[in-house]
Amino acid sequence: INEEIEKSNIDRNEVYIAKSKSNTLREIDASQFLEEQGMIIVETDLGDRILQLKKDDNSPVHPTGPASHLTVHDIADIVNESMNLDLPAEPKPIMEAVREDVLNLIDKSFIGISGTNSIAAEDGAILMVHNEGNISLVQSKKLHIIVAGIDKLVPMIEDCVSIGKLETAFATGKPLTSYINIVAGPSKTADIEKKLLKNMYGAEKVAVILLDNGRKEAFKECLWCIGCGNCIVSCPVYNSIGNKFGFHSYLGGRGVAMSRYLKDNKVSVDSGLYMCTLCGLCTENCPVLTPTSEIIENLRNETQKEGLSRESHKKIRENIKDKGSPY
Ligand code: SF4
Ligand code: SF4
Repeated sequence: INEEIEKSNIDRNEVYIAKSKSNTLREIDASQFLEEQGMIIVETDLGDRILQLKKDDNSPVHPTGPASHLTVHDIADIVNESMNLDLPAEPKPIMEAVREDVLNLIDKSFIGISGTNSIAAEDGAILMVHNEGNISLVQSKKLHIIVAGIDKLVPMIEDCVSIGKLETAFATGKPLTSYINIVAGPSKTADIEKKLLKNMYGAEKVAVILLDNGRKEAFKECLWCIGCGNCIVSCPVYNSIGNKFGFHSYLGGRGVAMSRYLKDNKVSVDSGLYMCTLCGLCTENCPVLTPTSEIIENLRNETQKEGLSRESHKKIRENIKDKGSPY
């Protein structure tokens, strides 16, 4: 990024970065970091843009529908206030106003940043599924940066397509998203005397950053997740307290489990390790059968050994020792 900014002769405070929705970017607080460096992040996904305009209390509530807890009236208020408009509380005018604003900002940016759905290691290609068409715009910037967890690696592009289809089916009930983009290198042409030129319509440079961030330590079952979000739909705890059950944009029991590896046992307790009822509904509704309740039981065992149990649990244990009864 620094190299591109230097070449562009643009003041750092005027650098716009077009960003697509990504749990991995949220995991590492990429937007916050880049904003602290003076750059301006433009969320291009409509739900994420609404949350960005909302400013406070703007955590996503679902991996594919980040603003699905807000009513159209809430959203109209947010958009009208932040963009100084007077739109009615109707989806279409809101969408059109946000689209126009975001397209203007994307025009100003020469850097795009995104996550990915999966990476084909042998083919050296990256697959991204989306419905809005925004990722095509993000990846057309001069520098396209892709940040992906190492758990996104699969052998071949055919595996990426299978994962993309599976995630789409379990996230939306549809067999395919409107767009499936595969990036296997920069935009290029050799149409003039076979001279290779880059940056015809898409990126001149594609940078892929593979992120471990504790994943190598995780139970391998924790990394099976393809991010469809179907588990939280049936989770009784998520349905009671929403995104308070989970960590960052990794919601529900699987998110709680991942917080142990992305952060530590204390964070997993704070994210809801002891809230899970171990009902197993998440596994029943998971396309890859992530055994979340088993992982959570194992992690509870770890936290007990570290002395991180809840005060109420400590009391029960003492009562059993002293009186032979939990009460
Ligand atoms: S096992 Fe835990 S995380 Fe899974 S659905 Fe039940 S309460 Fe939710
Ligand atoms: S744990 Fe399963 S159901 Fe939940 S988001 Fe991951 S793949 Fe989807």
